[in-house]
Amino acid sequence: MSYNSIVMSVKFQAVRGTHDLLPDQTAHFQQLEARARALFGQFGFHEIRTPTFEALELFHRSLGETTDIVEKEMYVFEDRGGRKLALRPEGTAGVVRAFIEHHLAQTNPVCKLFYIGPMFRAERPQAGRYREFWQIGAEYFGNPYPEADAELLLMVQTLYRALGLTDVQFKLNSLGDATCRPVYRRALTDYLEAEKPGLCEDCVRRMAKNPFRILDCKIDGPRLKNLPTIDSFWCGDCRIHFKAVTSLLEKAGGQYVFTPRLVRGLDYYTRTVFEVSTSSLGAQDPPSSASKEEGLASKQERSQGALAAGGRYDTLVKQIGGPDVPALGFALGSERTLDALKAAKTQPAASRGVLVFVAAQGEETVPAAFQLLQELRSNPQLGERHISVEGGFFQKKLGAQLTLADRLDARYCVIMGQDELEKGEITFRSLKESTQTRIPRQKLISHLLDVIPAEAGIQP
Ligand SMILES: [Zn+2]
Ligand SMILES: [Zn+2]
Repeated sequence: MSYNSIVMSVKFQAVRGTHDLLPDQTAHFQQLEARARALFGQFGFHEIRTPTFEALELFHRSLGETTDIVEKEMYVFEDRGGRKLALRPEGTAGVVRAFIEHHLAQTNPVCKLFYIGPMFRAERPQAGRYREFWQIGAEYFGNPYPEADAELLLMVQTLYRALGLTDVQFKLNSLGDATCRPVYRRALTDYLEAEKPGLCEDCVRRMAKNPFRILDCKIDGPRLKNLPTIDSFWCGDCRIHFKAVTSLLEKAGGQYVFTPRLVRGLDYYTRTVFEVSTSSLGAQDPPSSASKEEGLASKQERSQGALAAGGRYDTLVKQIGGPDVPALGFALGSERTLDALKAAKTQPAASRGVLVFVAAQGEETVPAAFQLLQELRSNPQLGERHISVEGGFFQKKLGAQLTLADRLDARYCVIMGQDELEKGEITFRSLKESTQTRIPRQKLISHLLDVIPAEAGIQP
């Protein structure tokens, strides 16, 4: 085989577990992100952008060395300077690191940040799960009161309502704090010790490291009906905090389902945890032949139907070297949320705005037509109305240019011919109504602004 034929035979594809977002999909991502940005702004959150990779140690310290993400799912690498780095598997660690590094606690009496970006986890690829996936999340620093928990939950609920997703469940629980969680842990371990012979092999392994995970084991969870749950062990302060969060939610028209068995996969949560799920997305169990090691983490970290999750992490900032600042946050999966909207058939129509096509007839008109094209494209008023302008096929016959305009679904066509050029005019054709009129070239922009109303550009 010659060198050339080897080169020819290589067929590049997106790396396993990753996906391309084509224009039809990015339109939906943009709508989701725009909705989130606007709403988070109303709740007083401001955007932060942190790097997609951080020191590996940061994730060890924040997520906990024994969590599934850290043990099995991180993309870890060494750079040329021998530094141990990792692609971020979630957004909180980086935001907390930035919060500490830039002393935001000192300069911002209230620090509320949101982020939008890709995350990376080496999960076993399956429907709707990607190794590079997008999250939208928010972190709220410096408010220890139940009002902050309720506010964050209401923000998430308002977002899903605004998106038109009605089939949504908000599971809520409190994981207690340093006073009551150890007591609960002991009671749970004692109970499980007696049940050990009947536990599945994953749970036997989890018992020592993180017995809480057994609560949402699909095999043992439903079977062990008398498993003690955290709510019987809450200390006075945790009980008061939880009651306050639920009563605030009730008063503000929020919804929640108290789920005492809800535990999140990450070690850093204290008190409030929540998970947003929908039945629009069915269960996606990995096939039984799949590698257990890889499948396990998916089941635990991002349980079936889960769209978003979050909670309070009052000790995390201190734990990774910052001041003693309470915090809470959440993140939603963009792909999962858009899948749910699609399944519920409430996905808003993707829009590309209104298209105007510029055509020319005759070689002498080409420079003037090209100049017109540039003038329209650089006009900020047309830009604000999402009016896009196509052209640049002036070498083709006029008929071929108009056919192209039609195929591109252009709304209007601006034709520059020899006669138009001499008279300082253009022909303005409406392709939907098949009507045309001559107008002075100078009046073209104001004419376009007249015929394309402000909303039309956004909702064609
Ligand atoms: Zn189990
Ligand atoms: Zn407590």
